[in-house]
Amino acid sequence: MSTQPILIDNVAFAKRGERLAGSLSLEDCPRLAELLGSQASDSSASLADKNSSKDNSVIHFTINGETNAAGQHFLHLTLNATLNTYCQRCLEQMPLNLNLNFDYLINEIDAGDSDVAYVEDNDDYDIQEPSQAMDLQRLVEDEVIMATPIAPTHEGHCAQLAMQSGEKPNPFAVLKGLIKS
Ligand SMILES: [Zn+2]
Repeated sequence: MSTQPILIDNVAFAKRGERLAGSLSLEDCPRLAELLGSQASDSSASLADKNSSKDNSVIHFTINGETNAAGQHFLHLTLNATLNTYCQRCLEQMPLNLNLNFDYLINEIDAGDSDVAYVEDNDDYDIQEPSQAMDLQRLVEDEVIMATPIAPTHEGHCAQLAMQSGEKPNPFAVLKGLIKS
């Protein structure tokens, strides 16, 4: 069961200095689920299907609103995600931990010249347009998708490859045999 979308009035949220925390599963993030599924090999994908009820990917998020003395509205988003990915080198299932922080300035994207100049001068903030129904779930999913490597791999040696490396098989041996015959 998917949870209801989490919609916030982002300007009011920032004005009131509100804070909201929650967590999402892959069922709440179909596009992310599709991305992670596409990284699974055929064999591991079928395995994942069998174990789909055991998928323990989870995204915890906290969002804080802030309005500064100049009346600018900000959102600060913190994400802690554990995703079930597949190492693209050994194709074993591999948990991926993401700890992300984002700062958004709420501003009209097509605002006047002076505002645009301010935005261009400031590399510290991403821009969110003012919205009375900003989809927080979609924002979280978008950020996690962008932070997920296209081809995640184990850091250092893969356990499977490390085991095989003792045998030092020559991958070209088969090829040579083919060329000779
Ligand atoms: Zn690996």
